[in-house]
Amino acid sequence: MIDFRISEADQHILDQVAAEGRAGEKYARHFEEHEHEPLPEAFPEAAEFEPLPRLLARRSKEDTPPATFQMLLSFARQSTNGVPLRNALRGGGGLGNAALRAAGTKEQIEKWGGLILAMSITEPGAGSDTKAIQSTARLDGEEWVLNGDKIFVTTGIRAQGVVVWATVDKSAGRAGIKSFLVMKGTQGFEIVRQEKKLGIRTSDTAAYAFRDCRVPRENLLGLDESVPREKGSASYRGVMKTFNMTRPGVASGGVAKALGAVGFARDALAEDGIKVDWQAGFHQRSATQQALIEMEADAEAASLTVLHAAWLADMGRPNNVESSVCKAKGGEVCRTVPQRAMELLGAMSVSHDHLVEKYLRDGRISDIYEGTGQIQRLIIARSILGYSSEELS
Ligand SMILES: Cc1cc2nc3c(=O)[nH]c(=O)nc-3n(C[C@H](O)[C@H](O)[C@H](O)COP(=O)(O)OP(=O)(O)OC[C@H]3O[C@@H](n4cnc5c(N)ncnc54)[C@H](O)[C@@H]3O)c2cc1C
Repeated sequence: MIDFRISEADQHILDQVAAEGRAGEKYARHFEEHEHEPLPEAFPEAAEFEPLPRLLARRSKEDTPPATFQMLLSFARQSTNGVPLRNALRGGGGLGNAALRAAGTKEQIEKWGGLILAMSITEPGAGSDTKAIQSTARLDGEEWVLNGDKIFVTTGIRAQGVVVWATVDKSAGRAGIKSFLVMKGTQGFEIVRQEKKLGIRTSDTAAYAFRDCRVPRENLLGLDESVPREKGSASYRGVMKTFNMTRPGVASGGVAKALGAVGFARDALAEDGIKVDWQAGFHQRSATQQALIEMEADAEAASLTVLHAAWLADMGRPNNVESSVCKAKGGEVCRTVPQRAMELLGAMSVSHDHLVEKYLRDGRISDIYEGTGQIQRLIIARSILGYSSEELS
């Protein structure tokens, strides 16, 4: 039976993480306005908080299962607007690391797992439709030669290496697409630019170019060089598995922005004497009170879809559809709930004196990367109706 009760010890960790997030809010506006300025290794306030790895080390098997707890941590942390007080990006924590864990051999995981790895799929002509990838990899002796242009690579500046998708055989469609580990500094691998963005401005996003970039033959993740001709490719499915694990994480970020916006609106309205009376019936509530209740219910419902997908992963059960459900729902509430909070708050919501507008800008991305809301709905529809991607796209 699903049980999302939180132990006292876990609640303590979540409270700490939320408090640390709030302490980082004093630096938020500065880093909004100085987008490409690197964050310091640690802000002075960091000393007031026990580092998260130390808190997590005290958890026991009786506490909330790990994937589910990660989502609760994300809600606690990301529902604040604080910049990380300690440099949050650690080895093993990039999207490329998730790809390595899903598709790499044991030896490859041991060799590169401790690095910060970005993941580079998107190209100027290939976003949602990943099989349209034009970047190529050609085997030349004991080396792969990569050529192509990549855009929107999260942590593309700070990463030490990147997992790059390229095709070894364009005529094979999806089956020809493989992933390669390319280390920074490899000749022929160039960072073209760093993007300026609407939101998530402390996250660096890069564009890359690969020009006759040579990597060792053993940098092909999974080492499977075959290109199956029959329908469906195990290798492609292997790399796509990455997203079943990461979609709930991305969704949790969007849900957190919705939860944060509700909290902000609730506090701001309470200061003006507007409080929700839960006992009062529908007809006794003002439109504002009713709006707050609806926003809260929507954010809460979305949070449950995220926890469900993560809990299935904890139980070792398939969560493909549930990952897409929570990503679609999280991608919806990250737009609608902060937007509604801004409506309720009026002019103050667009002022730079407050951070409520940041929820809308930072949340927006949750409905774009790792599969847009429309793509999630396609995946869900295919699953319910029993269609293949060729039949419903
Ligand atoms: C800040 C940021 C960080 C990113 N980080 C990464 C990263 O680390 N690595 C990486 O590889 N990529 C990354 N991306 C790219 C992201 O994954 C793509 O932007 C996303 O997949 C959508 O692709 P697209 O932008 O080309 O849009 P398109 O695929 O061109 O889609 C445009 C619109 O059409 C809709 N659409 C497309 N196909 C269909 C369909 N079949 N049915 C219905 N609607 C459809 C889409 O939902 C969207 O609304 C990042 C993007 C951003 C903005």
